[in-house]
Amino acid sequence: MDEEVTYCDFHSHTIYSPDSSMKIKQMLQQYVKKNISVLAITDHNTTAGLKTAHKTIKENNLPIMLINGEEIKTNCGEVIALDLNEEIKKGLPLEETINQIKEQGATCIVPHPYDFYRKGLLWNLNKIKMPFAIETLNARSFGPLNYLSKKYAIQNNLAQIASTDAHTYMEIGSAYTQMPYSTTKEEVLKNIKTKKTICCGKTNPWWVHCFTSYRNFKNKFFKSHP
Ligand SMILES: [Zn+2]
Repeated sequence: MDEEVTYCDFHSHTIYSPDSSMKIKQMLQQYVKKNISVLAITDHNTTAGLKTAHKTIKENNLPIMLINGEEIKTNCGEVIALDLNEEIKKGLPLEETINQIKEQGATCIVPHPYDFYRKGLLWNLNKIKMPFAIETLNARSFGPLNYLSKKYAIQNNLAQIASTDAHTYMEIGSAYTQMPYSTTKEEVLKNIKTKKTICCGKTNPWWVHCFTSYRNFKNKFFKSHP
């Protein structure tokens, strides 16, 4: 990997998501191993894991810039808020969620928009009235669905993001966003806004979803997440 660029993953899930098995410390160490230095933790409808993640980075002196994130379920699909200050509630109308992202000065990313299996926004994409970036490579989506996202991004001149959407350690590093070398959060977010991002990596095999289904099942009956 090149010294003059920064590698980022803007979509990942810790044990604070009911369908993820990743403990924060081990997850962060895996990102360090993969040379991905900018990470957004985007748990489902919660920011509860962020405090522990910041503390772990500090205490272990890990070379990771953590961006506060959340993957929010709206009434018509999911969106990601990056660099938010306060948790946004799930289940609100898309327009209201977008307004709250805007009010917090956060950055909006649309994950897997055409993935109808996984709460993609589909045709509701056009309802978002603020600049946003779009995942054109989600490592958990099928190739043709990523292709549709890419087509939409090109047609609408949107910034493109590649993310793992990792729920297990083995997924970390499979996809990542490359941008010019950045040392501050402001630079990273500016690089997204000014479309200086390049999507790298590939999708994971379909069976990674089996781990997520197992985890969901386990939590439903044994409540094993924090
Ligand atoms: Zn996700």
